[in-house]
Formats: sequence, structure tokens, C-alpha cells
Amino acid sequence: MHFHMKRIKTDILILGSGGAGLFAALHAHQHDPSLSITVAVKGLLGKCGCTRMVQGGYNVALAKEDSVERHFMDTIEGGKWLPDQDLAWTLVSVAIERIRELENELGCFFDRNPDGTIHQKAFAGQTFDRTVHKGDLTGIEIINRLAEQVWARGIDRLEEHRAVEIIRNRKGDAISGVLMIDMRTGEFVFVEAQAVLLATGGGPTMYKYHTPSGDKTCDGMAMALRAGLRLRDMEMVQFHPTGLIAGPDTRITGTIIEEGLRGVGGHLLNGAGERFMHQYDPRDERATRDIVSRGMYQQMREGRVSPRGGLYITMRHLNPAMVRKEFKGMVERCADCGFDLVSGLVDVVPTAHYMMGGVVFRADCSTDLPGLFVAGEDSGGVHGANRLGGNGVANSTVFGGIAGDVLPGWVRAHGAFSAPDEDAIAAAVAACRAPLDRPAGDLSPIRERLYDLMWDDVGIVRDAASLGRAEGALDELEAQLDATGVNGANLAFNLTWHDWMNLKNLILVSKSIRFAAMAREDSRGAHFRSDFPDVRDLENSRYTCVTRTDGRFDIAMRPVAFTRVKPGETLIPEEHAA
Ligand SMILES: Cc1cc2nc3c(=O)[nH]c(=O)nc-3n(C[C@H](O)[C@H](O)[C@H](O)COP(=O)(O)OP(=O)(O)OC[C@H]3O[C@@H](n4cnc5c(N)ncnc54)[C@H](O)[C@@H]3O)c2cc1C
Repeated sequence: MHFHMKRIKTDILILGSGGAGLFAALHAHQHDPSLSITVAVKGLLGKCGCTRMVQGGYNVALAKEDSVERHFMDTIEGGKWLPDQDLAWTLVSVAIERIRELENELGCFFDRNPDGTIHQKAFAGQTFDRTVHKGDLTGIEIINRLAEQVWARGIDRLEEHRAVEIIRNRKGDAISGVLMIDMRTGEFVFVEAQAVLLATGGGPTMYKYHTPSGDKTCDGMAMALRAGLRLRDMEMVQFHPTGLIAGPDTRITGTIIEEGLRGVGGHLLNGAGERFMHQYDPRDERATRDIVSRGMYQQMREGRVSPRGGLYITMRHLNPAMVRKEFKGMVERCADCGFDLVSGLVDVVPTAHYMMGGVVFRADCSTDLPGLFVAGEDSGGVHGANRLGGNGVANSTVFGGIAGDVLPGWVRAHGAFSAPDEDAIAAAVAACRAPLDRPAGDLSPIRERLYDLMWDDVGIVRDAASLGRAEGALDELEAQLDATGVNGANLAFNLTWHDWMNLKNLILVSKSIRFAAMAREDSRGAHFRSDFPDVRDLENSRYTCVTRTDGRFDIAMRPVAFTRVKPGETLIPEEHAA
């Protein structure tokens, strides 16, 4: 079957314009300016995604007393021995090169010490103060400089273009391109490419409280599942302890105030005004995100909540001038919501922040599907069971840059335009258009139900009973969505239609999270099973690997290869261990 649709050809197609997508575009262009490179993005280039929202900063071992080995061990131990060690090593070692590039080639200004060295602040879960930052709005600095460089080069842009399906070639053995929707008109567009980078940035926006930008709905992971790719560590969803509670009718609720507040000594209080973190970890508020979020959730379950249903963070025992200077952005954000961060109490709740899981990939960003590469939050395996604050933007810029280094060579050696499977395009168009043929309904109750069920049953604490309940509930919700129509009279910026597709992807990826969470019968990092509360058998660590074939999920538990260090060992020389 043939549809009338726009068709475009480009050598390299990059999906997403966060740190991963923009770095990939710049590096690929540097390596071979004769290639046509196109960045396609659901929003506007430089204005969407989560890299722009990075507050705290970027982890990198720069200080004399710090080391790559120490950063590596923090990453592995924080990730509870589940990270792929070669990917984690690449992260910590290439981060040094990348931060220099950001400063010296792209012109980012990071905060400095009086002696001229880069200032590095404390982030929770790390044994060294290694987080490079620009005040508390680091991401804006990084994305603005990257976007300027992309604009200044001959890199093509498809803005407000939403990728909907990865399309294989006719033989099915390699990628042909990506089906998209031009959101401005509603028109379908097929972009044929020799190589594609998936960098749509995951984003656990299926939870009641969540931090990522509104354009992120796990589209990349959903497309990867439908394309038959393997997703690992999907049960590992990170909750950030301090999401704002700013009322039910504002999207500010769930967005975070940054971790550095706890790093410099901020206190968490329950509804009765008492500190409580000492009950859960000797590091108090500076424990890793999983532990702090769980402690908070426990207090909430026991009913020690504020009138708004959450808990509090306070800085009022610290030097007000320091708080105002170091956390200017956070002070202003809180003031916008009616809170006084310097001398008052701010209502907070744990909020779904980051997916450690994602598409299985190699250190050169290649995947199981020839021609498809992945980088950033869409990928899995770098962080294991927990991501350290500051390792997220390092991940997207390190691996985005690597993808950009690898893609031109790959295109020269193996690339080819290969005609798409037209039936697959037709099926994907039909799937997207399905709600337009039905009477329009209301998507809000479906979204609210998804938020609640993921928060209650597949959230910070899970067990077999809650995960079992969620299985039926997700199936029912999908059936309800499939029966709900959308008014398709005007497809230009038809946000209800896009919301329908967003929910379709979120439900699919939620199912993979639930499925992996059911399979992992121990507790590690972000995954806590109240029926299997212990961290077990680190020496025989296995990671989950989900695939989906003909609508059915399958799971494999694969052994982690301890290629550099085993549990109980360290790479840090004894004389540096203190
Ligand atoms: C509020 C907040 C604060 C954070 N603070 C820190 C921090 O201090 N330190 C740290 O290390 N990490 C932090 N993170 C995490 C960090 O932002 C991410 O790990 C990282 O930036 C992800 O980069 P990315 O390039 O993979 O994705 P993103 O930067 O999210 O970019 C994804 C891109 O894909 C596009 N896209 C999505 N779907 C589609 C589609 N279907 N078709 C086309 N395009 C699509 C989006 O529009 C966007 O352009 C923070 C995250 C948030 C939300």
C-alpha cells in the first residue's frame, strides 16, 4: 500500500536535540562536513528536552586529589554493581575530555574558585566534590552554546517533527529510516537515512510526580521495543527526593529543586517538623537518591506529612547569604511558588526523574539493528541500579559525542540507503491514525489513572501483589485508550492527538518497567521489593533484558561481566582511598 507522504533523504538522522543529539550532530559534522546531517526534534532545537533543565551540574574527575578510578568506583558502587563496566569507564574517562571541549571549544562558562580552577561542588552519593556547574542552572549554559554551534553549521533541522516509528528495510536486516509526523501540519513524513541516532531522552513521565520536560514520553524506548530491540534495567526508575509540591493545577508540581541543597547541608523534615533521615542511613540527607526517596516515602506512608501531602526541605539553619548566592535559581523558583527557600520550609515529594534502563548498546553507541545507534537517556547499562546526580548530563554529552565520532566512519564503511518496508510504514501510519476514526473522548482520566497506578504499584516500593495488580490495570488502560477517539478535523498542532500517541508509548514502556520489576526478585538501588528487601548475591549480579515480540514481552536475566573490578575490590590505590 502506498500513501501520499513527504519523503526526505539524509545521510545521518539524529532524533532529539538534547546533549546527546546536539553533540552527535556537531561531532559528525566535524568529522565529515560533506555528509547531510539532520536533527529532528519534537520541540524546538535548543528549547526542549531535559539537558536544558540540568540544574546541579556535571560530574568529572578534574581535581588533583580526585581520580577517574574514584569516579568510576562511585558510579559502580552507586549502581550496585549492575552497570556495564566498560560503558561506565568510558563515561568517567571521556567526561574529562568533554568538559574541556565544552569550556574551550564551545565557550561554556562554569563557576570558578578564586585561584582560577573550576569550582566543583558536592553531590549526594559521591566520595569527592566533583560536580562542575554554572550556578544552579548549568543545562541552559550547555544547551545554548551547543545550539549556537549547530545553528552556525550546515546541519539540517526538522523542528516540531515527532518520530513515531523506526522502519527497517525490505529485507528487515537493517534500518531504512524513521516515520515522523510534522506536528505543525499533521502530515506524515518518511525520512530515509543511512544511519539513525536515537537520542529522545527516555523520561519517566508516567508517574504522578515527575520531573522531565513535557515533550518526553519514552517515545524512543517505545519505538525500540516495537522494532524488536532489547531494553535492559527497565525496573530501574530513579526518584529524585525533592520535587516541589506547588498545587494540583500547575506543572511546576513534581519539578525538582536541586540535590546540591542537600549536598551543602539542607535538612529534610517530616510533617511534624522532625528530621528523619538518620533512621535510614548514617549519611542522613546526603545518602543516595534511592535511599532518601525511600525514607521520605516511608514517612509519607506512615502519615507524617505536611498539609499538602508531602514533606519539607529547609535551609534556614544555614548562612542565608550562601544560600542566596549558591542557589539563586532555586531561591527564585521557590519564590515563584510562594516558598521562602532561604529562611522557610519548602514542600517537597519524591518525584520520578530518570530511567537508568534503556536500549542495549555497545561503547561505540551501536545497537543490535545495523544502522541504528543510541546515546543519552534512551540507552541502558551505564548507570546500573542508580544514577549519581551529575552523571546524567555527562552520559548524554560523552556518548552523544562518541556517536558523532563513529557515525561518519560507519556510513562510509557500511552505509547505504535501502528502501523501506512499505507495509511497515502503512501499518505505523494506520496505528497513529486509529484514534482519528473514532468518536472523540476524554484522555485526562486515562492519564490520571496511569499516574496513580504507576506511583502506587510500580513506584518507589513494589511487591509481587502490587506488580500483579498493575499488570491487569495497564492492560485495561490500554484497552480504554484504544477505544478512545480524538477529533481529527484539524491535524495542525493537534495536541490531543499527540497526547494519545504519548499515552500509547507511556503505557507500553510502563508495561516493560512492570515486567522487569516483577522479574527482579531482590532489591538494588532504585528497585525496592518489599517482599525481597535484601541486596543479594552481588558476585552473581544479573541484569534484566526485556524484548517484545508479536505483542508479548520476554525477559532474560543476563550476568554482569565484571571486566574491571569485582564486588569487594576497588580500583582506587590504597594510598588514595581516604
Ligand atoms: C529538572 C532536571 C534536572 C536535572 N539535573 C541534572 C543535573 O544536575 N545533572 C545531571 O547530570 N543530570 C541532570 N538531569 C538529567 C539530565 O537532564 C539528562 O540525563 C540528560 O540531559 C538527558 O540528555 P538526552 O540528550 O538523552 O535527552 P534530552 O536532553 O531530554 O533530549 C531529548 C530530546 O529528544 C526530543 N524528543 C523526544 N521525543 C521525540 C520524538 N518522538 N521525536 C523527536 N524528538 C523527540 C526532545 O524534544 C528533546 O529534544 C536533570 C533532569 C531534569 C529533568
